[in-house]
Amino acid sequence: MNNKEVVTRFPPSPTGTLHIGGARTALFNWLFARHHNGKFILRIEDTDRTRSTKEDTEVIIESMRWLGLDWDEGPYFQSQRTDIYNEMIERLLSSGKAYYCHCSPEELEKKRIEAKKEGLKPKYDGTCRERGLGKAPGAVVRLKSPQSGTTTFKDLVKGVISIDNEELDDLILQRSDGSFTYNYAVVVDDSKMGVTYVIRGDDHVNNTPRQILIYKALAEPIPHYAHLPMILGPDKSPLSKRHGATSVLAYKEMGILPYALLNSLARLGWSHGDQEKFSAQELIELFSLDHVGKSAGIFNTEKLLDLNAKYIMEADDGNLADLLIPFLSNLGCSNLNKEKVKEALRTLKARAKTLVEMAQGALFYFKEITFEKQADEKFLRPEVLEILEDLLSALKGTTGFAQEELEKTFSTFLERHQIKLGTVAQPLRVTLTGRAVSPGIFEIMEVLGQEMVIKRLSNAISHIKSKKGL
Ligand code: GLU
Repeated sequence: MNNKEVVTRFPPSPTGTLHIGGARTALFNWLFARHHNGKFILRIEDTDRTRSTKEDTEVIIESMRWLGLDWDEGPYFQSQRTDIYNEMIERLLSSGKAYYCHCSPEELEKKRIEAKKEGLKPKYDGTCRERGLGKAPGAVVRLKSPQSGTTTFKDLVKGVISIDNEELDDLILQRSDGSFTYNYAVVVDDSKMGVTYVIRGDDHVNNTPRQILIYKALAEPIPHYAHLPMILGPDKSPLSKRHGATSVLAYKEMGILPYALLNSLARLGWSHGDQEKFSAQELIELFSLDHVGKSAGIFNTEKLLDLNAKYIMEADDGNLADLLIPFLSNLGCSNLNKEKVKEALRTLKARAKTLVEMAQGALFYFKEITFEKQADEKFLRPEVLEILEDLLSALKGTTGFAQEELEKTFSTFLERHQIKLGTVAQPLRVTLTGRAVSPGIFEIMEVLGQEMVIKRLSNAISHIKSKKGL
């Protein structure tokens, strides 16, 4: 294969956000292009004026950017390419490969019902095919499809697919309102843009022979096709909202790392042995259509969460801080210092499955705390008042607040009181975080710093005193 010849594209219709299925299609096209040092094109198929929205276009672009799927050309917008489609219609009409059809929708409907009655496939009967009609109000442009023979293509995933041309209609290329049909616009665009590989969901398999006939009519080279298997949920039914979020942005908002999602998407129909985790670079190196299977891909949110936890654990602190800061801001933290966020996240990396979870776990570092009711009742009891007061003075007196130094201060303190760390750990945890669950006590004290620890201890002491009515 000549690498220069690899041109792929992702042509979403902006009639909804970018979903898991679309993102998988985009990823495979991107990987295939990157693997072969080819070109990846983004094209927005917004010919359906009533259903396409600017917001959806923006969300699709944002989702692609977030996933790191960069494109080399585009975004092109079909709505801006009317002249090109018109020009090619002229070419087809003048070469006799297409014709004007004046049949009214009512006539066609009548014929359809009659055909059905006779047990025939409802198909355009070719009334206007040889009439040489011209443009007229209400007229459509149809492709003059071959009426015999077969159209065959070798799908790179599904193998050879063949269909009798008799089965295919003289399909409409341009509607009576002047708009163009999907099958026509997609072929004009793909051929004008030099697309050599069409990789898309297998819901488009049936369109492919029709598109091939349009290529032939235009005398343009036919691309290679690869139709990807469908995506199911863990219960083997087609992936839907029942299985959890389906839009890419929902996963972003949930605090999934882009590379974790990318990884899960890559495994939807493609595999490389049993390997579960891949870097983007690895995916580019390893990706090949030969390893796209025929069986459906299973998207499993639980697995994604596990994978996300692994990625969080291994992520570079600076990178993770950049990703975490917006989540902290959403929870009302302001004036965040990146270095401080890095210190905080180091204590949380090992336990968070998502950035949302991590941000919630990190709140006590950046916001005033309130004591959770149960934790307060259970651990901030009058009996611990004295110990906390003593701890306060011990901590005021120390100069070293690094973990190892704190550990030493504590062992002296515990010895003096003849108590175990267990006796003081939970009251102290609630004192510092408001909750009964947190990262290690010494880790959090180091990150909070001496001033804040002293302030929170003093607050908890006054709080307990007020319970006692002191
Ligand atoms: N706009 C079409 C879709 O979103 C593109 C299909 C294709 O790849 O040809 O389904």
